[in-house]
Amino acid sequence: MKHPRSFFYPIFIFVLAQIASLSLLGIWIYWYVSNYIIFSEVDDKFSAEIISEGRNVFVLVSGLVLLIVVSVLMSLLFHRLNMQLNLARLYDNFIANVTHELKSPLASIQLALETLNLHHLPKLRQKAFIDMMLKDTARLNKLINAILEIPALEQKKVAHNYDVYPIIPFIHELVLESMEQFNLPSDAVQIRGSGECRCVADRNALKIVLDNLIDNSIKYSPDSVHISIRLHCGLRTFSLDYKDQGIGICASDQKKVFDKFYRTHDPHSPNVKGTGLGLYWTREIIRYHGGRISVHSKGRNKGTSFHIELPIYQASKKRYIQNLLKITRKRRQQENAFEE
Ligand code: ADP
Repeated sequence: MKHPRSFFYPIFIFVLAQIASLSLLGIWIYWYVSNYIIFSEVDDKFSAEIISEGRNVFVLVSGLVLLIVVSVLMSLLFHRLNMQLNLARLYDNFIANVTHELKSPLASIQLALETLNLHHLPKLRQKAFIDMMLKDTARLNKLINAILEIPALEQKKVAHNYDVYPIIPFIHELVLESMEQFNLPSDAVQIRGSGECRCVADRNALKIVLDNLIDNSIKYSPDSVHISIRLHCGLRTFSLDYKDQGIGICASDQKKVFDKFYRTHDPHSPNVKGTGLGLYWTREIIRYHGGRISVHSKGRNKGTSFHIELPIYQASKKRYIQNLLKITRKRRQQENAFEE
């Protein structure tokens, strides 16, 4: 299905650009002609040489200024048009990917239910089918949450749930939860780092960040997954260095992987499915925490690293962080009042 805006919006921008440039040209011609008449009249009355010299320079400079304004305006409009076209293309890919991501777990759940319904399977096989269905529902849940929560995050309408955590044990706990969820063996993730610092975090949101990173490492590691995580408390920031040994990301794609809907195409692993929302969502969550995230990879098959920084509670971005806590308190009070 095509999004109607993806087709009409670029045309609308293009027509707007033409109208804007033609109007400016018209204004300039009008201005030039009217000034020429005025200057000619003045010219006839006073000294012809002095005025005509000044007039020529003035007309030339203002003409040039107008030309520069038109060019800047046109390039801005075309830049916007280009961005819109790219977004439309990415959006179409997203719809195709999302359709697949919704359909395939649903088909698998349906097949498992039909099998369980029609055949009397031994307990062990029943358990295998149930586990498979739970995995598929988790996949569906993640996708639906992304579709629902990303717009809320973008419009700053997220339900704040921030608390102050001793961040190193907290991250340890979240990583262990993710490992269990993704059925990773205990030696797949190495987590190092100790120290005492506290950060303000939304538990569910940071869990989504770690789930997205780990899920990607699983998807983009052709062999077994190896992840190393290093945690460090600095003076003003807490940092998390995440590294896997997967297929890596080439330099040109590293700039774009946090863009909404962006997916790289790797001819060596063409069947890896996704929506291009995971890293965008991750970056938005980290930004909401007052932190930042960057990616680095030495290239193909050299693994991928992510560097995350979060402000340490009471050491930096105090006002912003206090505000997150304040909004959370207010929301909880409202919820309590509603329940009573
Ligand atoms: P998705 O995985 O659904 O495509 P993401 O936003 O999570 O979307 O990732 C965007 C792109 O970044 C992916 O298409 C993939 O090419 C690349 N990528 C992300 N994480 C990794 C990783 N750990 N190793 C290699 N490539 C990655």
